[in-house]
Amino acid sequence: MPEVKSYAALSDSTPLVPYAINRRTPKPTDVQIEILYCGVCHSDLHFARNDWGMTVFPVVPGHEIVGRVTAVGSDVKKFKVGDLAGIGCLVDSCRTCDNCRDGLEQYCAEGGVFTYGGNERDGSGPTYGGYSKSIVTHEDFVLHISDKLSLAAVAPLLCAGITTYSPLRHWKVGPGTRVGVLGLGGLGHMAVKFAVAMGAEVTMLSHSPSKQADAERLGAHRFVLTSDENQTASVAGYFDFILDTVSAEHDYAFYLGLLRTNGTMVCVGVPPNPAVLPAMNLIFGRKSFAGSLIGGIPETQEMLDFCAEKGIVSDVEVIRMDYINEAYERMLKGDVRYRFVIDMATL
Ligand code: NAP
Ligand code: ZN
Ligand code: ZN
Repeated sequence: MPEVKSYAALSDSTPLVPYAINRRTPKPTDVQIEILYCGVCHSDLHFARNDWGMTVFPVVPGHEIVGRVTAVGSDVKKFKVGDLAGIGCLVDSCRTCDNCRDGLEQYCAEGGVFTYGGNERDGSGPTYGGYSKSIVTHEDFVLHISDKLSLAAVAPLLCAGITTYSPLRHWKVGPGTRVGVLGLGGLGHMAVKFAVAMGAEVTMLSHSPSKQADAERLGAHRFVLTSDENQTASVAGYFDFILDTVSAEHDYAFYLGLLRTNGTMVCVGVPPNPAVLPAMNLIFGRKSFAGSLIGGIPETQEMLDFCAEKGIVSDVEVIRMDYINEAYERMLKGDVRYRFVIDMATL
């Protein structure tokens, strides 16, 4: 089992440090990828700090992976050496349950295997993510990447992209839909780009006044500062659909008040602590409060193809691997424009 350079969190209160892991030699159905870029998702930070109380250390985060195929197993059909390839949040699932058969591997009845912090289905050990030089994954969970777009700017599509694309599609956002995107970070900026590309009327709901110009540049038709009562009053009862990408505690009930009758608010952000949600805020106006987890493999490929066709990528700040701990501190302050991406050549 070859040793591979990586970066890991060894505990919830220590910085990430260089760490060596072992990757398996490719099996007949495996693809081996040299990782060129890996995006930095807020989930990586939640995991490294054990915000959700489920982390097993050491953890090698990273699930926005793009790179080049360096080896394929004898039975691999979809990839050859030299191809560009991507891996998102999932590396395996049962393939036989209803959800897997419907291409919803993220909701696999046996639990999808996450790219890091998961356990290989064959019992061979934990999964390690993309803050690493290479990765070996079954070809069914490897995505094709277009060579038309900047590779660093494509990496965040593998999580931030699909996590926002999937609910916008599922709830049929399009022309005539009044969409509010809550939180302008990695997920939020992709949500704005997608909702605009799908033809919706898009309002950015942000607690950062300094992000107004960027929101407009990204295509938002309107900017509402969530700390300004006059501004939020102007969109009370207004939205058909709110996509909530906020990573920190906030008042869900308040934002439900911005939905019109029959409106839906979908949470993709996962604050560390549970929140209170009064039934009254849903009952008056027949409102829906829902969640959505990343996206399945077929829809992830659909999203990547949609981005290649429309020229949609993430706005990125490319960083060195050893900047990761500062990047986490900046992410905690909402100071990301709009996704850190690690250049793996610096590891
Ligand atoms: P991010 O880049 O750090 O963006 C989060 C945004 O939340 C910030 O930019 C900020 O936007 C907003 N925010 C509002 N109140 C805040 C506060 N008190 N402190 C800091 N920020 C605040 O994070 P991300 O990578 O987009 O991820 C967002 C959340 O989605 C995380 O909880 C992550 O774990 C989760 N996630 C879920 C899925 C899923 O499948 N459901 C997938 C990926 C990530 P403004 O400055 O505009 O207010
Ligand atoms: Zn993520
Ligand atoms: Zn399954």
